[in-house]
Amino acid sequence: MYFYIVKLIAMSIKSKIESLRAALPEGVKLLAVSKFHPVEAIVEAYAAGQRAFGESRPQELKQKYEALPHDIEWHMIGHLQTNKVKYIAPFVHLVESLDSERLAEEIERQAMKCDRVIDCLLEIHVTAEESKSGWDYAELLAFVQSGGFERLPHIRVRGVMGMATFTDDESVVRADFERLAICKTELAQYFGAEFDTLSMGMSDDYRLAIEYGSTEVRIGSTIFGAREY
Ligand SMILES: *Cc1c(COP(=O)(O)O)cnc(C)c1O
Repeated sequence: MYFYIVKLIAMSIKSKIESLRAALPEGVKLLAVSKFHPVEAIVEAYAAGQRAFGESRPQELKQKYEALPHDIEWHMIGHLQTNKVKYIAPFVHLVESLDSERLAEEIERQAMKCDRVIDCLLEIHVTAEESKSGWDYAELLAFVQSGGFERLPHIRVRGVMGMATFTDDESVVRADFERLAICKTELAQYFGAEFDTLSMGMSDDYRLAIEYGSTEVRIGSTIFGAREY
């Protein structure tokens, strides 16, 4: 009975990944958001060929990195406290939640220690919701224009990440994605060709995000089911 259930879950993870892959246009990367799901679920996604996974908590990310094959790309997508950067700096593939000058300085410090250059996305706050994290765009722009990132050579800025408002009102979600796309276009002039990523769209809104130019969708519950917090 137990194995039967495990196999059913496995089949559904595999088929979810396959149908998502078939639905995504070329040039849109699928990040499987595995936060709060066990290593076994990631193994099933891995068996379906998935290699990019997103996590929101540094210690959980580190434990999963240690338990799983090392050709997995780990993306940090949750709010990152400066005192936790050290857990993920040696191996993280992309920090998507770079949202302050202070965090940038700490990533620079830890990356230098590991003799790495760490790829990061600038997380921008575009919604009216106080609870969401991310850079205030005006502050970010001022930091970029003052050459802030030129002083942080162990950070390579790859683009922008953001979330839309949690609402059923599609026009609000569209406006948020449009705003993120505009921010990405504006910021691109300050960076090189490697500034190529626009990470936006989750299970409930990724189709809309793609309409506004998303290059990476971060999908959790559609693949793995509901999370148990
Ligand atoms: C949890 C999370 C996701 C995935 O959300 P789903 O609705 O489960 O697809 C995507 N992005 C971020 C930043 C998240 O925290």
